[in-house]
Amino acid sequence: NRSIVLSKRPQGELQDGDLTLETNPVRELKDGEFLIQVLWLSLDPYMRPRMNDTESYVDPVAIGAVMAGETVGRVIASKTPKYSVGDIVTSYSGWQEYYIANENEAMIYTVQPDGVPLQAFLGVAGMPGRTGYCGLTYVGKPKAGETVVVAAASGPVGTVVGQTAKQLGCRAVGIAGGPEKCRYVVEELGFDDCIDYKQGNLLENLKSACPKGIDVYFENVGGEVTKAVAQLLNKGSRAPICGYVSAYNSEDIGKVETPFHIFGALAEPPEHRFFVVTEWQDQHQELTKLLAEQVRSGQLKYRESVAEGLENAVDAFKGMLKGKNFGKQLVHIAD
Ligand code: NDP
Repeated sequence: NRSIVLSKRPQGELQDGDLTLETNPVRELKDGEFLIQVLWLSLDPYMRPRMNDTESYVDPVAIGAVMAGETVGRVIASKTPKYSVGDIVTSYSGWQEYYIANENEAMIYTVQPDGVPLQAFLGVAGMPGRTGYCGLTYVGKPKAGETVVVAAASGPVGTVVGQTAKQLGCRAVGIAGGPEKCRYVVEELGFDDCIDYKQGNLLENLKSACPKGIDVYFENVGGEVTKAVAQLLNKGSRAPICGYVSAYNSEDIGKVETPFHIFGALAEPPEHRFFVVTEWQDQHQELTKLLAEQVRSGQLKYRESVAEGLENAVDAFKGMLKGKNFGKQLVHIAD
């Protein structure tokens, strides 16, 4: 079994030797266990803060432990009646090719693909999709006719936020890095507009894209983008704080000017709070079904960036934090 372990806590950007590839034999199964062969590994921005030794809503990954992450895989051996050989499951197996799971482990779900590509259950029909959907509808509470802004708009969270906002009758404005991503967000995902934050004049461009101001700002990135958005928020606006990826590679994330600082300094701050997708874990099945159905029907559009093999996972992860991915970043491990 090949796995990627956290060997050193990165200082700032990931360096060679922080994450390392190991090979170990797969041990025998005990009663109540089953063996998953990983097919696809999801790479997600939250993994970077988990490499730090800092308090958060989830524990840091321990030094020497397999790097945490969600995967979709196939059950290839089982010593429990709960899971059968051939079942397709999502699980938090981490960055590795094989995983021994216990029948009582939480957060393992059997997938019913019915024509939906398996890896979509790690993207728009998976955790990031549910994040976009729940954060927008339950925290952002958008009403028809309002303007919703989301950055990292071509990624899996932003993709679902914008397309859901459109379904709810809102004006959806994306922010993304580069003309190609912006073109895709408007022409293929159907957002009303998309601003390239790398081009300069962010505030002016956002102002023209949001002539009636901003009612919901779905926070994915923080930093300069948040500062520009903060100047255009309407009275009564809401800002679900999902993440702020621009800070994740900071040497000391505790010293970063967060969206909480930026909004807190406003005379009339938006209604804002940090949320975690697991707040709606009880809706996992129905939301997965809803999003998978939209993928199946073609209503929910998305893109993927695929790295081949576990040996390319680290580079793909580093690239994602800089926006080199175009759509959901995945690692293809096996068929
Ligand atoms: P993406 O696939 O969109 O990848 C991250 C993107 O962030 C990059 O592609 C890049 O897009 C953008 N980015 C990177 N650096 C900057 C920067 N300095 N300024 C602006 N944009 C930047 O990620 P996801 O869709 O998976 O995740 C989006 C956000 O949602 C993240 O903050 C993540 O942590 C958060 N999240 C939170 C969850 C929760 O429960 N709270 C659960 C899941 C995700 P571009 O090229 O367009 O700049």
